[in-house]
Order: sequence, then structure tokens, then C-alpha cells
Amino acid sequence: MFSINNILRENIKQLVPYSSARDEYQGEASVFLDANENAFGSPMEQQFNRYPDPLQFEVKKRLTKIKGVPPRNIFVGNGSDEAIDILFRSFCNPGADNVILVPPTYGMYQVSANINDVAVKNVPLTEEFQLNLEGIAEAIDKNTKLIFICSPNNPTGNSIDRTDIETLLANFSGIVVVDEAYINFSRQKTFIQELTEYANLVVLQTLSKAWGLAGLRIGMAFASEEIIEVMNKVKPPYNVNEASQQLALQALANIEQVNNWIKEILLQRDKLVLGLKDFDFVVDIYPSDANFILVKTTDANGIYNFLVEKGIIVRNRSKVELCEGCLRITVGTPDENNLLLQTLQNFK
Ligand SMILES: *Cc1c(COP(=O)(O)O)cnc(C)c1O
Repeated sequence: MFSINNILRENIKQLVPYSSARDEYQGEASVFLDANENAFGSPMEQQFNRYPDPLQFEVKKRLTKIKGVPPRNIFVGNGSDEAIDILFRSFCNPGADNVILVPPTYGMYQVSANINDVAVKNVPLTEEFQLNLEGIAEAIDKNTKLIFICSPNNPTGNSIDRTDIETLLANFSGIVVVDEAYINFSRQKTFIQELTEYANLVVLQTLSKAWGLAGLRIGMAFASEEIIEVMNKVKPPYNVNEASQQLALQALANIEQVNNWIKEILLQRDKLVLGLKDFDFVVDIYPSDANFILVKTTDANGIYNFLVEKGIIVRNRSKVELCEGCLRITVGTPDENNLLLQTLQNFK
């Protein structure tokens, strides 16, 4: 069914990638006069005068240990937003191809589609925030290249039924992108383990959420070797800078801290739900598999503005399809969550 050659853009198939100095010579030489770097150094203590590893091998080695996926099946990007954009640029012909989105979902898929002049077919989630498989099947045409499924979904917080995603993977001849930015907070299993089963699967993860590294901009795509090869060919040569690579290596050595935070965040999420559900203005709190909750209220704009005045910022999602009246609230520290709840006592 799926064949990468059927969906790759012709210009990408033909593309001869940029060959950097770091690509052309890899080894232990002592004098590097090949990349027009400043051989004297950088004008501060830490030294960044050499170009970074274009394929981030040390970072991938660490990721292999944690994720159980060999480096050849891992793409590392400048945030997973870069991976999203590269998927569009690799597989979608501007002005001709289309992708399927299932709103309400993460906003970057639509923006990336717009930037790349790729049409979007929206097939909204059901009232239960699950896939409308019939609607998706009807929307697919011969120019449909990608389907984006975010699970756990942003902004609704729930996981998408696994068997529904597998149905798509088994029947769609394009690529199914499963965005697992929030997987560390979920009891659901990752789709990474299905990579050997489905050649058309791309799993996105990121160090921005549970790993506490949003400022470093490191995201990952896990996929077949042939998809990863294409993504590496299309990406800017030095897409992840040296400082980010070094700091990510440090962070990835401390998984224990992250696992403790995840437990604490889940505990805090439950407390926040308990604290919020008694307010008169709270209509519903949706079940969450993520580090945020979606709260349906009687007056989203009023509450949002009230909180802004008090210096507390939540995400107003009330204009989003199926999210009328909804605020998305990230789980903070115990102090931050308590302050939010105390402040809301005074909302009339
Ligand atoms: C936050 C988020 C991302 C962004 O990841 P970066 O790695 O920071 O670019 C991707 N997908 C979803 C669903 C997100 O919520």
C-alpha cells in the first residue's frame, strides 16, 4: 500500500543535499581548515567556534537508550515544529496536495500548511474528542499526503483511541503523523513501538514539555529509515545548535528527575481538578492525559481577563471549534496552582 516513492515530491526525490564540511570529512584530524570557522575561538568562556554535528549523533545515542529506537530511525529537529514543517516540504506539493487535520488540535499543523501553500481538509473530532473515521475516509483523495493526529491531544487533553489510529495506519497510503508531545504524562503506550509494523508512521515527540527544555528547541521524529533519510536531506544542515546539543545531553542523563516531576505534575493536576470543579462558573473539566486541563466555563472571556489583571495567564480556547467557553490551564507548581484557585474565589 504505502510506498515512499508514491508520495515524495519529485524535486525532493531528485534533491542533491547540501554537503557541509562536517559531512565531507568525519574523523580525528588535528587541524581543521575546511569550514571557514574562527580557529582562535569564541569571545567568551564557552567555546562554540566549531560547527555542530549536523546529525546530532551523541544526542541520538542517548535517545536510543531511552526510547529503544536506533539512531537511523530518529530525526532531531529545532523543536518538533521543525519536523512538522519538514514533513510538509518533503511530501506536499504546494498548490496541489492536501493534508487532513482533525480539529480542535495543535495550531502549527494549519500554520505550516498555510506557509507551504498546502490545502487543509478539516474533519472535526466527535463530541467525545475522538476521530470521525468515516469522515476522514471520505476526505481522503489521491492528493492527500499527511494526516496529523495529536495524542494526547492539545487542547482537549485526551488520548485518541489507539485502534482508530491503527485503522488509519493500515488503510491510508500516505503518512500518519502521531504527535506525542504529551505522551510522558499519559498512561497510553507510545506508538514508537509500532514503527516496525507501519512504514507510513511518523511519531513526533519533544523535549519541550515533560523534559523541561522548551527553551532549547529540541524535537524528535521517529520513523522508518527511508522517511528519516528524506527528512535529514531536507533539513537545514546545522539545524540543532551546539549549545542545545550539549545541554540536551546533560538533561537526557537525568531521566530520574523528569520521572519524579511527571508524578508530581499528575498529582497536582488531580488537585487542580478537585479545586476547580466546585466553582459555579465551571461547567465541565475534560479528562486529561497531559500536563494541562481543558475547562468549560460559563464566561471564558470574563475569567481570562480577570486572571490577566491578577497577573495569571491561561490559554483562552473559547473561539476554537468544539471548545466554546473553554480555558486551557497548564498545571503549575503547587504555589502557582493554589494562587490560581485562590484568585478565582474572587471572580464574580
Ligand atoms: C508544544 C507542542 C509541540 C511543540 O513542540 P516543540 O518541540 O517545542 O516545537 C508540538 N506538538 C504539540 C501538540 C504541542 O502541544
